[in-house]
Amino acid sequence: MGTLSVNQNKLQKRLRRLTGEAIADYNMIEDGDKVMVCLSGGKDSYTLLDMLLYLQKVAPIRFEIVAVNLDQKQPGFPEHVLPQYLKELGVEYHILERDTYSVVKEKIPEGKTTCSLCSRLRRGILYTFADEIRATKMALGHHRDDMVETFFLNLFHGGTLKAMPPKLRADDGRNVVIRPLAYCNEKDIEAYAVLREFPIIPCNLCGSQENLQRKVVKEMLLEWERKTPGRTEIMFRALQNVVPSQLADRELFDFASLKIDDSATPRFVQVMNL
Ligand code: SF4
Repeated sequence: MGTLSVNQNKLQKRLRRLTGEAIADYNMIEDGDKVMVCLSGGKDSYTLLDMLLYLQKVAPIRFEIVAVNLDQKQPGFPEHVLPQYLKELGVEYHILERDTYSVVKEKIPEGKTTCSLCSRLRRGILYTFADEIRATKMALGHHRDDMVETFFLNLFHGGTLKAMPPKLRADDGRNVVIRPLAYCNEKDIEAYAVLREFPIIPCNLCGSQENLQRKVVKEMLLEWERKTPGRTEIMFRALQNVVPSQLADRELFDFASLKIDDSATPRFVQVMNL
């Protein structure tokens, strides 16, 4: 990468700062951690690796980075791209070859979207591998916009108020997933990927349709952002600022035992004392 323009420099600094902040806020990486960075070959995962390698150099703590790519045997997957890139970087890496493509093609009827089974298989393989290499954290490249999108998908289709957390312990308890790009927006990541000329591997090799519902939500959010710039940021802040007593979840807030408090000062007296 040659000399950066003022704006390019600002972009890089912003992404680095936001990644550092998210890591610190959620205590994502600790001294002695072995972080397995999942690389798909898309813009998000390249940016994630780039950010973590930078932070590894400047952070006051020591942590290891191991890059892992899962080659799912989609037709046309350019096998040489990631090894070449990672070798040049001098990063420890593993390429896992598992033919989930054939499994998915066999199990899912023609014309149906294959993404949900495909990602479940991928997750399982990556979790197992992280456990095998004794990675203490597994880093994924999801960013702020992915998290807000997931929130709306769950709201509209799942009837649950949940998104994609910045840090998560997997159900089996043996993996902790972190999302260091949680505070970064997709537009910045896109621009950064162009600036750094990451060798992007297209994600439509499997021929599957992009999840239609996610696409609709994405378009809705983009439209909102166009009309009201900054809205996605506000919505993301809302995910960090939940008020259980103002919702209706009886598990989260004990509505049943709400009673008057005889010892409290009546509001009228409070106002008079102002
Ligand atoms: S787009 Fe293809 S490779 Fe990606 S999750 Fe869907 S089925 Fe899997």
